[in-house]
Amino acid sequence: MDIKLQEIGYSYAKDTPFEKRALYEVNIDIENGKYHAIIGHTGSGKSTVLQHLNALLKPTEGQIQIGEKVIVAGKKEKDLREVRQKVGIVFQFPEHQLFEETVLKDICFGPMNFGVSEEDAQKRAKHFIQMVGLDEAILEKSPFDLSGGQMRRVAIAGVLAMEPEVVVLDEPTAGLDPRGRQEIMELFYSLHKERNLTMILVTHSMEDAARYADEMTIMHEGRSVMQGEPRKLFSDAQKLAEYRLEVPHIIQFQKSLEAQIGHNLGKLCLTEEE
Ligand code: ADP
Repeated sequence: MDIKLQEIGYSYAKDTPFEKRALYEVNIDIENGKYHAIIGHTGSGKSTVLQHLNALLKPTEGQIQIGEKVIVAGKKEKDLREVRQKVGIVFQFPEHQLFEETVLKDICFGPMNFGVSEEDAQKRAKHFIQMVGLDEAILEKSPFDLSGGQMRRVAIAGVLAMEPEVVVLDEPTAGLDPRGRQEIMELFYSLHKERNLTMILVTHSMEDAARYADEMTIMHEGRSVMQGEPRKLFSDAQKLAEYRLEVPHIIQFQKSLEAQIGHNLGKLCLTEEE
């Protein structure tokens, strides 16, 4: 499912004395099956964009196309359930959204709310709990007896159990230690690869964007200022500096490696010719 934001503008508390403009002429093209990162500093508009992706917010200008559905600024929308089911959002600290007595009930809540039978919802719970790397036995536990990392995995299983076509990740590694961070990022990457899920990673971590994303959009002061392949965008240090961003370490490392290999290969060729 493709998602296309066209000239989106958004103001919070529009037409009140507290009106606050958050987005200006945002254009983002997210292609089906791709891993797309949206990056930028705090306050650049990432969360506001994120909430448009499953119509939690509606644009005050422009339009957004989510699969077949087109949401146009100023036009009333009736049925957004399908959009909400197809685009699953893993919010920051997703464990804060766990609330049922057992993990099983928690995972089943979303699908049953969307009309899936209890039996099918339970099947999904068993399937997805394994997919996020947890043992089935955990389904009978209270979500509040789990470790932080386990809670996060349960919350992710809950989003996957809705069988979305697109998964949006909002700073998914916030508050985790480096090992937990890597595990969660690798989990998402393998889900993306194995299930051909479209992934949208909203983050201020340029390292994660450089490591995992196929495509990237840079947000700056409420505008989408660059879109393209991370390697390409990150190689323009001058342009990045305009947006107060630096070339991520992983790109610097790759470049220095290439430079060394290139250099040595050059030397090798020379030696052979001599
Ligand atoms: P980011 O996710 O990149 O940190 P946000 O989308 O949260 O950026 O914020 C973009 C702008 O919108 C900021 O200036 C922020 O202060 C403002 N903003 C965000 N949420 C609200 C809100 N609920 N009411 C008013 N202004 C908001």
